[in-house]
Amino acid sequence: MAFRKNIYKTPSELAQMVQPGLATAASLDAVRGGVRVGVTTLELDALAERAIRALGGEPNFMKEPGYHHTICTSINDEVVHGVPGGRVIEAGDIVSIDSGAEIGGWNGDAAFSFVVPDPARVALVAERQRLSDDTEQSLWHGIAALASASHLGEIGAAIEDYLGSRGSYGILEDYVGHGIGRSMHEEPSVFNYRVRDKGPQVKPGLVVAIEPMVTLGDIDTFVREDGWTVVTTDGSMAAHWEHSVAVHADGIWVLTAVDGGAAALAPLGVVPVPIPQ
Ligand code: MG
Repeated sequence: MAFRKNIYKTPSELAQMVQPGLATAASLDAVRGGVRVGVTTLELDALAERAIRALGGEPNFMKEPGYHHTICTSINDEVVHGVPGGRVIEAGDIVSIDSGAEIGGWNGDAAFSFVVPDPARVALVAERQRLSDDTEQSLWHGIAALASASHLGEIGAAIEDYLGSRGSYGILEDYVGHGIGRSMHEEPSVFNYRVRDKGPQVKPGLVVAIEPMVTLGDIDTFVREDGWTVVTTDGSMAAHWEHSVAVHADGIWVLTAVDGGAAALAPLGVVPVPIPQ
């Protein structure tokens, strides 16, 4: 598979992607710390922006033409690209938060989902939590596959296989992961499912944002009148987890996890290696 541009970064370019990755992680941690019933998505957005700027970064989502926020907040049947505003977080909601930071011209991109406790609806919360947990674990299985893959297509196969082993889920095809570097979205596409094309070679310098978007129902989506929010057509609940991950000469490193992914990858037999600075 040929690309118009070289998709592989140099060791010094990889080193420059560490700080924006950490700022992205910090913004998601700030949102985690601020989540409670009654908080607005715009308040969560402010927490994320403050965390990124405190580390000398800039929210890179604001560089998307027409987008004026630090994060995307996608609730229940919203899958991705939900716009922060006056909507309040309610008990039982499944909420996906996507954030990104730019430092020194390099980008990070990551997302997580959470379910707000609701003592009155235990079964509903359990079903949504399982969706979020399985989506998160599918991401980690994809990242683990990257550690030993020869081609990028193996990541999607690992994600699809894991989710298939867990239940009957919909894996979005309208939206996929991507390369990341000087731009937030670069080649190559990172599929969350098996495709015929085995994709580019996995070798040092590859940096990808892997981001399974998973539903409890079908995979069809539409975009709301706001021009951004992606919603499931059948109204089914959705989860979204994402990390930016670098492949370097000595191994892989999850740029948007403070520990490089060590804790989550340990059960999968993968030990991430810090990027030489
Ligand atoms: Mg992304």
